[in-house]
Amino acid sequence: MSTVIEHVMAAPSRYVQGRDVIQKLGSRLQELGSAPLLVADDVVWDIVEEQVTAGLEETGLPVVREGFGRFATAEVVDSLAEKIREGEHDVIAGIGGGSTIDAVKAAGHLAGVSWASVPTAASSDAPTSALSVIYTDEGEFVEYRFFPKNPDLVLIDTGLVARAPERFLVGGIGDALATWVEARAVAKTRGKTMVGDAPTHAGGALAELSWKILWENSLPALDAVRAQKVTPALEAVVEANTLLSGLGFESGGLAAAHAIHNGMTAAPQTHGLTHGEKVNIGTLTQLIMEGADAREIEDFIAFTTEVGLPNTLTEIGLTQEDTDEVRAIAEAATVEGETIHNMPFPVTPGLVEEALASLEIISRRVRDQRGLPEPEFYQAPH
Ligand SMILES: [Zn+2]
Repeated sequence: MSTVIEHVMAAPSRYVQGRDVIQKLGSRLQELGSAPLLVADDVVWDIVEEQVTAGLEETGLPVVREGFGRFATAEVVDSLAEKIREGEHDVIAGIGGGSTIDAVKAAGHLAGVSWASVPTAASSDAPTSALSVIYTDEGEFVEYRFFPKNPDLVLIDTGLVARAPERFLVGGIGDALATWVEARAVAKTRGKTMVGDAPTHAGGALAELSWKILWENSLPALDAVRAQKVTPALEAVVEANTLLSGLGFESGGLAAAHAIHNGMTAAPQTHGLTHGEKVNIGTLTQLIMEGADAREIEDFIAFTTEVGLPNTLTEIGLTQEDTDEVRAIAEAATVEGETIHNMPFPVTPGLVEEALASLEIISRRVRDQRGLPEPEFYQAPH
């Protein structure tokens, strides 16, 4: 066994953000190849077609668009890789949500061409990373695929983000708030990150910066989305959600919050919640488990309530009587290999179960003391 410990920092080659930058997709893709394949579902293509086509034509690039279904399945990835080979494309761009982007990353890697992430919302920190999540046709998790490099380009148009549903940005904030809480736990443990044996200081610092920006700008950024306007606060939150949180989680590491998110597949009542909504429950549970400062926990509850993120069992479709589900989540979150074992102390299912079960009482008390609304029960779609 080698005793070499690698501290690794991973990042996309280019990150481009701003209002109307979608018009520049052509010139950005031209830096990567001469025969791009664009992948977007019909809803997204309807929104971006005009600007994307104009930009590509201006640079003399052909416009070839492939549609997309719902999930990044192994079959979809293989068929996109085949399309790349058939059409002799040298760069592939995924335009839209997380699944489209995940499928494009995996296909680009498989076919050995450059790939670009073009998210149309700031709903998670996946677009910058060197990994994809592969699902079944029914949307069940199959595997993570890790790639030796990050996207060649990440391009995010804040005008599109401003016009996307508010719940997407709320979810992105939930995902990004977890990043610093998890990275600082991994740093304490000297645990593994997503890309190496040990975190870099850079990964941790970017995670912390993302946290700071979110506390200062999330509420005004949500106002901007309600008005469908791009403001400096929205620009700041988009960068925190997409770039800083993306670099922070990948090179800073994940811990309990995301493992608890993953554990929620064991409770059907939580299905239909966004990634970031579930992650937020995980972050608060982690703060309680690690015995964080009482004031920090209370402020986190108050802030995430104002943002519109769930912080009670009620808001994820559970009650305090659902002890079987809470136990099932705790058990799934603590299986071998989960990132929860990056915490700086041994984590048992019992510890997670107790922390998760206590959310309801703590959050209701804080919300009451701070004059915030009571939680509303979440009903999963059938
Ligand atoms: Zn996440």
